[in-house]
Amino acid sequence: MFQVEVWGGAGEHGRSCYHVQFGQRSVLLDCGVKKGQKKEETYPKLDADKVRMLTTVFLSHAHEDHSMAIPLLYRHGYTGVVWTTRSTVRQLANYYAKWQQYVQDAGDELPYTSEHMEQVRYRFVEDMAPPGQWFTVEPGMQACWGPSGHLAGSIWLLLCVDGQTLFYSGDYCQDSRLLAANLPDLRYVRDLQVGILDAAYADDEATQEQLVDDLVSACKQVLERGGHVWLPVPIYGRGHEIIDVLAEALPGTEIVCDTGLEVSFQAMLEEEQWFKTEELHLYKQRWSSRVQVLTREQLLHKSTSLKKAIFVTSDPMLQSKASAKLVEAFATSPNNALIMTGHVYPGTLAARLLAAEQSVPRVLHYRYKVHQGLPDVARMLDGLKPKFSLLVHAPKAKTDRLKAKLTARGYDHVYSCAPGDQLVFCGRTLGTATSND
Ligand SMILES: [Zn+2]
Ligand SMILES: [Zn+2]
Repeated sequence: MFQVEVWGGAGEHGRSCYHVQFGQRSVLLDCGVKKGQKKEETYPKLDADKVRMLTTVFLSHAHEDHSMAIPLLYRHGYTGVVWTTRSTVRQLANYYAKWQQYVQDAGDELPYTSEHMEQVRYRFVEDMAPPGQWFTVEPGMQACWGPSGHLAGSIWLLLCVDGQTLFYSGDYCQDSRLLAANLPDLRYVRDLQVGILDAAYADDEATQEQLVDDLVSACKQVLERGGHVWLPVPIYGRGHEIIDVLAEALPGTEIVCDTGLEVSFQAMLEEEQWFKTEELHLYKQRWSSRVQVLTREQLLHKSTSLKKAIFVTSDPMLQSKASAKLVEAFATSPNNALIMTGHVYPGTLAARLLAAEQSVPRVLHYRYKVHQGLPDVARMLDGLKPKFSLLVHAPKAKTDRLKAKLTARGYDHVYSCAPGDQLVFCGRTLGTATSND
């Protein structure tokens, strides 16, 4: 028997956590959190008995929606290791600090202690095998990994137990400007049973090229009208790609960023193996010739300058005091605008500004792709040909729409699930799909 249980992350954005049972063995893929108003949905629906029985745990990347509930596993009695990459572990300290702050600001308490955090033991997939090659996790269990183009250190995984193979895409993007992404060699996946596939953009078909054109035009419009543009981005990830895009498209415009992005830029240089060599080389040149790193005070001061600039800061949901101050400063001119480029979590200042009919300052939303939409999911299905596919990382209604469109295009056995759902695979057929909700 082979079974996938959704503990979080399917039919929603956040708390990615998939429990996979291969006969007597079970593994957990990611264990993240979800920001938002429903407190009972913050952490995955962990089953303590099953947590204690886990053979091992894999972590695909550092983002909080995949990582920040891992210490909870140890609170529930897990004593094993977490397989991930060095780059991911390096980034985690920052995410833990930010998550702790977020929980504290919300007037809540962490459900785990620093002791549980210290109990987490990491092992690194890159020590076992290069990308695209199998290694033995433990006798009878093989794994294979590769870069997923979403973040430095982000990986996809193939797992094989007793001849049963599962693919987990992690968060996947083949349209990254700087990051490398390679799917597994098809010789390895000739008989893939189950794919858990990032479908965060659901049935959206926009290409990165169109999205980038729209973002650049929006920035140009704001600047031409005499306003500053401010892009709040995560410290690691798309921020540097957006800086690269804008530095190239707007050669005369000043670009200023905060010290957080300088830290992540330096980290990129130490982790070149995750990047496209040529593109990273060009970006280094653009960074040194075009980007000014400013302190919080200098950024505030800069916002009063007549010469219009692009601001890029590393607080995507505008949760910090420094961001709140800069929002106030930006509000003094109706021409200034904030541009959000990723998922905006409900309950945050970014969401409140975005939802307001006439927010001051103006807030726009232009997406930069770091996940998969319909064409990308279809490409993944064409390449890997899983017998059954679970579409994850988007709200249920949107995932249902994607599933319907894929089915209409001839893709069979694609599933849209919700937290608590179980898919049981018996040989080559799906046994039962049940929902606990
Ligand atoms: Zn992610
Ligand atoms: Zn994610």
